[in-house]
Amino acid sequence: MRTIPAEQVRHLDLDSIEKASERHFWLHIINNALGGPIRLPVIVKKGAQPGPVLGVTAALHGNEINGIPVIQNLMDAIDVKKLSGTVVGVLVVNVPGLLLRQRYFNDHADLNRIAPGKNHGNESEIFMHRFLKRVGNFFEYHFDLHTASFGRKNAHYIRAFMDDPQTARMAKLQGAQIIVSKPPRDKTLRGILQKQGTKSITIELKDPHVFQKGVIEDATQGILNVVYDLKMMKGKINFPKNKTYLCQNSQWLYTNEGGILRVFPEVGTRVSVGEPLAEVHTIFGETTKQYFAKKDAVVVGKSIDPLNQTGSRIIHLGYDFTEIDMKKFFSSMT
Ligand SMILES: [Zn+2]
Repeated sequence: MRTIPAEQVRHLDLDSIEKASERHFWLHIINNALGGPIRLPVIVKKGAQPGPVLGVTAALHGNEINGIPVIQNLMDAIDVKKLSGTVVGVLVVNVPGLLLRQRYFNDHADLNRIAPGKNHGNESEIFMHRFLKRVGNFFEYHFDLHTASFGRKNAHYIRAFMDDPQTARMAKLQGAQIIVSKPPRDKTLRGILQKQGTKSITIELKDPHVFQKGVIEDATQGILNVVYDLKMMKGKINFPKNKTYLCQNSQWLYTNEGGILRVFPEVGTRVSVGEPLAEVHTIFGETTKQYFAKKDAVVVGKSIDPLNQTGSRIIHLGYDFTEIDMKKFFSSMT
């Protein structure tokens, strides 16, 4: 087995990295309260030929870890001698959150709601600001890998600004179950990078705090499809078997009655108007509330937590959807 020693650095200088090489870094972002460093594990693969910088980030939410093996597999599939450009993988962004097995940063902030952070801000704001300055801002193409939160399930789905043709193409190349069109109006990492001119999409990879083989393989192939499409490396774009639903918008439905919650439809499926979505029971087993689909929709995510205080999430539905015939899309590209 060959290991590459990880170098401890404060800044990533991609220009100074030798062509056709792989480097591993511990990128120092801030210090903890003992004065010790908080460092992010980063893999850089720099090609023999010049080309774009493609970045992949995982575990911005510390308990969403399916993206970590996606980056490892992606890096294994890339041959630096045949690569044009640079692929940067940040295996874990929210290192303190991951070690605590929690979504949030260790000051309880959601790092995906505060981008671009602040130079002179609070703990999470400074962390986000420096993360962008030291690595995130280098990306020309970007994939942010997430999963559902604890107590929920997601489909393999994409959030992307579909009005931008290149971003839309990256989203479609994932062969995911669902794409939800979202303009970059928020303080997410994707939103802020897209606003700055990076082509950025979020990939949701099913369940929190597990490694799920199928979706890990699908996401690795999806990102490789973009690597091939950008002509960074030669390879065969893999035709996904399924159709992808493209939703123009999506919404969570919340309960207005507390009790034991059961949600019926599975993620990735279609529901028709009038179809039962969920029921609330008392602790004695009596049904007190039923919820039905008000419109045709696709199920993007759902609650799997039976404990529902009034106002809990039920189901995440994608609306105004069309089916993309992926085979047709791919054959029109070649
Ligand atoms: Zn997330």
